[in-house]
Amino acid sequence: MEDVEKPELLAGYAIIKVRAAGVCATETHFVEGLIPVGTPLVLGHEIAGDIESIDTAIKTSLKSGDRVDVYNMMSCGDCFNCRNDMENMCTQAAGQLGFNADGGFQEYVRVPIRSLVALPANVSYEEGAVHACSGMTAVHATRLAGTKIGDIVGVHGVGGVGLMCIQVAKLCGAKVIAIADSEEKATLAKEVGADDAIVCSDYAALPEAIKVAAAGAGLDVIYDLVGSTVGWNAMVDSLACRGRLVIIGYRKEDMLDFYPVGMLLKEGHILTSVAGCKRDLELSLRYADEGRITTIVANRVPLEMVNEAIQLIIDRKVKGRSVITTP
Ligand SMILES: [Zn+2]
Ligand SMILES: [Zn+2]
Repeated sequence: MEDVEKPELLAGYAIIKVRAAGVCATETHFVEGLIPVGTPLVLGHEIAGDIESIDTAIKTSLKSGDRVDVYNMMSCGDCFNCRNDMENMCTQAAGQLGFNADGGFQEYVRVPIRSLVALPANVSYEEGAVHACSGMTAVHATRLAGTKIGDIVGVHGVGGVGLMCIQVAKLCGAKVIAIADSEEKATLAKEVGADDAIVCSDYAALPEAIKVAAAGAGLDVIYDLVGSTVGWNAMVDSLACRGRLVIIGYRKEDMLDFYPVGMLLKEGHILTSVAGCKRDLELSLRYADEGRITTIVANRVPLEMVNEAIQLIIDRKVKGRSVITTP
């Protein structure tokens, strides 16, 4: 922990008084060096707070004092990708808050006005922080996967994003089978709406367990939040014909590695999904506002204890999402 200068207001930006900032598994990727960080950087890409000051020369319905959620990609709104629903891959982004621009693990953060979303009345700052990453990611992955009524869906990994994927898939009319690494997480998965939950201790036995839970069928969609080679192989074996494996999670040194014939004979698809677009965040917040999604905030941690909060994720001890809160 160290003191930093309060950021200055620049043209096109607002200064946000941070009220809540989620601690993500991605934080461990920075700590491990999987995502390189060039310069000293304030982490924290899941941010909710109040507008402290704002460039009034920019036309916007937002004003000082408003409660806001932050879309952490500082997208340009103008490049081909931004104009074609691929804003999460903006080619001219000013940066990404908490990745290469100072993020929310501090009292004040500077955010482009374009990246602000009004926080709906029924969504708390802590919940808003969770939606800024987990919720948005689940909505985006679901759009890419085309999850639909009648699908049997697997969610491998019951962390912050997994809990959201379960609920968004349910909203689409799917039957959801969660695959967790502990009884507690399996219980949590059912609490948020999973129809069934498997506790996996042996990947060799997992496809059979999934088959039983799916009444003999394969999985039409699998959201993989775990990102392990052995896990991906078990998922590939569990897909239905023309099923879609959506890779969202990844790990240091784990490679996608399987002989393709099994996949080919069922015309399986592999998709990848990264974060989301601003519209995915808006939809996620709307679901929360309408009470159609439950947001699990596991721990509220004071800013001074941010390092301990990151360690809890490394130790795989968080059920849901830890959120850093500032007074
Ligand atoms: Zn995140
Ligand atoms: Zn762009």
